[in-house]
Amino acid sequence: MANFSDLLLDVARVRRDFPILDREVHGKPLVYLDNAATSQTPVQVIATFDDYYRRLNANIHRGLHTLADEATAAFEGTRETARAFINAAEAREIVFTRGTTEAINLVAQSWGRTNLGPGDEVLISLLEHHSNIVPWQLLAAERGFTLKVIPVDERGVLDLDAYRDLINERTKLVAVNHVSNALGTVNPVTDMARVAHDHGALILVDGAQAAPHQLIDVQAIGADFYAFSGHKVYGPTGVGVLYGRAELLEAMPPWQGGGEMIATVSFETPTTFAAIPHKFEAGTPAIAEVVALGRALSWVNEIGLTHIAAWEERLLEHATDTVSRIDGLRVLGTAPDKAGVLSFVVDGAHSQDIGLLIDQLGVAIRTGHHCAQPLLARFGVDATCRASFAAYNTPEEIDIFAESLERVVSMLR
Ligand code: PLP
Repeated sequence: MANFSDLLLDVARVRRDFPILDREVHGKPLVYLDNAATSQTPVQVIATFDDYYRRLNANIHRGLHTLADEATAAFEGTRETARAFINAAEAREIVFTRGTTEAINLVAQSWGRTNLGPGDEVLISLLEHHSNIVPWQLLAAERGFTLKVIPVDERGVLDLDAYRDLINERTKLVAVNHVSNALGTVNPVTDMARVAHDHGALILVDGAQAAPHQLIDVQAIGADFYAFSGHKVYGPTGVGVLYGRAELLEAMPPWQGGGEMIATVSFETPTTFAAIPHKFEAGTPAIAEVVALGRALSWVNEIGLTHIAAWEERLLEHATDTVSRIDGLRVLGTAPDKAGVLSFVVDGAHSQDIGLLIDQLGVAIRTGHHCAQPLLARFGVDATCRASFAAYNTPEEIDIFAESLERVVSMLR
C-alpha cells in the first residue's frame, strides 16, 4: 500500500466538497479518473453559481442599476483572481473566452491573420491537442505560411535539439502545450520561450492541462500568450482564459464584432474599439460562469497547488506501479517530468472495450485518441486508455481502478 501520510493534502476534507463523488455508477461507487477531460465541481463553485442567479443576475458593464453594478464587480473580480492565479502583470491582460480552444482561435484569427503570411513559419509540437493544431492549419491554408512540427521521442518527450534546428528567423510563433493531455509530459516551456524570443518569435502556451496541476507564472515562463479552461480547473464549462501581454493585445485587431467591444459606432466615421481586454469580449459573456470560475480558482488556492501537485504526483507513481503489473500493459508517455495522466494500451484488449467494461465497475476513464491523433499515430496506436487524477482522488481509488482493470483485461482476453 502506498504511503501518502507525509503529504499536506487532507483528501477526506477535499472530497467533502464534491457531492458527485458520493454517487454510484452501475451500482458501484464512482471512481472518477477522467479529470483531464473535465474535473468535478466543488460545492463552493456550485453555490456561487446558485447565488449569482438568486441575487446578482444582470447584464454587465452597461447598466446603471445596482444589480448591473454588482454583477459587473463580481465578473471583473474574477479577472483579478485569474491575473493573480497565473501571475500576469495586469488584469487587462486577461481575456475571458469560452475555453482554451476559443483562446487559441482568438490568437490565430486576430494576431495570426495580421502577422502571418507567405514565407513565415509557425512551430507547433507533435504533443498538441487538436485545438492547438487545427486553428493553425486552417490559417496556414488561408494565409500561406508554413506549419512545422517539433517531434517527440519514444518517451513522449519533446526533441529540443530538433526544436533548435527547426526554429529560425522565419519563425513567427511557437505554439506548444505546457502539459500534454494524452501523455502527461510536462514541457520545458520557460526554456522554449527563451529560445523563441532569441529568434524573434512569440510563444503561445496551451495551459489547459497545467493550470489545474501546478503553479503558473506567465511572467517567469516568458509566455506571450497563455490559455486555460475553467472546466479542467474545478470550474464551470463554457469559460476560459486567454492571457496576452498587454502590448500584444493592444496591437491586435478585434476578432469578433458586436456590443461591449466598441468605443463608438457610426456610419459616418470609422467605428472605434474599446480598450483591452473588452475589445476581445464581444457580446454578453458567460457571466455566471466567469463569476463561478473566480470561486474555483480561489478554491484551488485554498487547497494549495503545491499540495495538489505533490498529491497527484504520488497518485501517478502509485497508479503506474500498480497497473504495470498487468501482463501486456504498455504505458505510453514515460517522460521524467509528468503530470497526473496515465495513458496505456493492453495487448489483446481494445481500449474502447476496456473503457466500456470498466465503466460497468464504476470506474470512469477515457478511451480514444484524446484529440491528439498525430501523437497517437507516432506511437503506432489509434486509441489509448487514459486515467487522469485530481486533488480528490485517493490511493484506494487507484487500487480499485487497477483491480477493475485486471478483471476487465482477463475478461477480454
Ligand atoms: N489543450 C489541451 C492540452 C487540452 O487537454 C484540451 C482539452 O482537453 C484543450 C486544449 C481544449 O480545451 P477546451 O475543450 O476546454 O477548449
